[in-house]
Amino acid sequence: MGFDYDLFVIGGGSGGVRAARMASLAGASVAIAEEYRWGGTCVIRGCVPKKLMVYASEFSTTFEDAKGFGWSVGETTFDWSKLIAAKDKEIARLESAYQANMEKVGVELFEARAVISDPHTVQLSTGQTYSAKHILVATGGAPFVPDVEGAEHVITSNEIFHLDDLPKRVMVVGGGYIACEFACILHGMGAKVTQFYRGEQILRGFDGEVRGHVADEMREKGIALHVGTDVVKITKTDSGLLVRCTNGRDYEVDTILFATGRKANTKGLGLEKAGVEVGRGGEIVVDKYSQTSVPSIYAVGDVTDRVNLTPVAIREAMAFVETVFKGNATPVDHELIPTAIFTQPEIGTVGLSEEDARDQEDIEVYQSTFRPMMHTLAENPERMMMKLIVSKASRKVLGCHIVGSAAGEMIQMVGIAIKMGATKEDFDRTMAVHPTAAEELVTMRDPVRS
Ligand code: NDP
Repeated sequence: MGFDYDLFVIGGGSGGVRAARMASLAGASVAIAEEYRWGGTCVIRGCVPKKLMVYASEFSTTFEDAKGFGWSVGETTFDWSKLIAAKDKEIARLESAYQANMEKVGVELFEARAVISDPHTVQLSTGQTYSAKHILVATGGAPFVPDVEGAEHVITSNEIFHLDDLPKRVMVVGGGYIACEFACILHGMGAKVTQFYRGEQILRGFDGEVRGHVADEMREKGIALHVGTDVVKITKTDSGLLVRCTNGRDYEVDTILFATGRKANTKGLGLEKAGVEVGRGGEIVVDKYSQTSVPSIYAVGDVTDRVNLTPVAIREAMAFVETVFKGNATPVDHELIPTAIFTQPEIGTVGLSEEDARDQEDIEVYQSTFRPMMHTLAENPERMMMKLIVSKASRKVLGCHIVGSAAGEMIQMVGIAIKMGATKEDFDRTMAVHPTAAEELVTMRDPVRS
């Protein structure tokens, strides 16, 4: 039986675009549909614009620090609309590049919503129907807002990138990546930020000391972080939005950002009808080759809710192409993924937290907290933290956690060593690079705990 395409990809984000390009380069006939913009969450309203905003927000500290090095910094002002315009221009450039790169290799692009009508058929919102030997679902995720009274007044990470002005008073709800990053971004730009998190400490799942250190530093900078606190009700007033909280207090703010997690984008995709198994949270259930319960349908990226990070979606897409179009069955290795959280200070982390490692085996903990040289003349009180979790039996470094400037850059490199199975002694015999902050990673002599 002839199909219109060898592969039809639904979703033009990091995973979908990579799969479409690579499959086409491998000789397959490929089409891709995207209902919003090429590039998906990462490029359009996630990692990329977020990082640009992180850079923008860090200047307020840089101007302050400069004084300690002899600079007189005049009056500084921040123009939100200038930043947003520049950011939008860059995002549009990236979007065109994504589009052009797919067109260059012969992928057929559809700017339409696609739904699955059977294991080999896709129907577009334009009315066209296409058949394909394989369908790849890469529709990502979308912000989830809990059912709170007055929830219609809140925004999510989708809207934050397009506000007309920097809000003066912001409430951020949530304690995950997005909540903590935006609390820091908005504070750095000059907003008064209050953050509510329902649990006892932000960044659940990360190393306990890292969480405590970052929470302390965020408070020290002036973010009003309340843990064990949640929103009960939101009402609109003449002067803003009134938030009634579980701590019994009312807060008036201009903008409320809910960053309370994301859910897989699977609603109305036709998955049930096609027989594709979906999990409790709406995520598509896949095996290690990203194949769903329907053999001709695969899924990669956030829609599968495995590890929801751009580089992971890209790896899953590459492995899918290798498996399906190159005859080389390739599972994705989801172990030891280095990652960064762009709070201020930044976090870089790979491997096990102290708590998880301790549950697994006997460990030694090496830790160093210090004021980086950059902060001494600046009289900036922010401290840096580095931590290694070491197996007593194998001496392998099971986890590395860094909090401070350039932690994201450092953890990429440490990730290689740890992935290779480096021991504490391998770290120790590596010569220090002086004077850097990173040299602490190879000069921690005695465990602080074992
Ligand atoms: P997370 O899952 O990281 O955090 C969600 C937060 O919302 C948690 O603190 C959670 O609390 C809280 N929450 C969930 N439901 C409710 C509720 N009903 N009421 C109150 N609070 C609630 O999601 P994010 O939205 O921050 O990020 C989504 C994903 O995007 C991440 O998992 C990450 O993979 C990715 N991402 C990665 C980034 C990076 O690499 N730097 C940056 C941004 C996003 P609790 O802990 O109690 O469950």
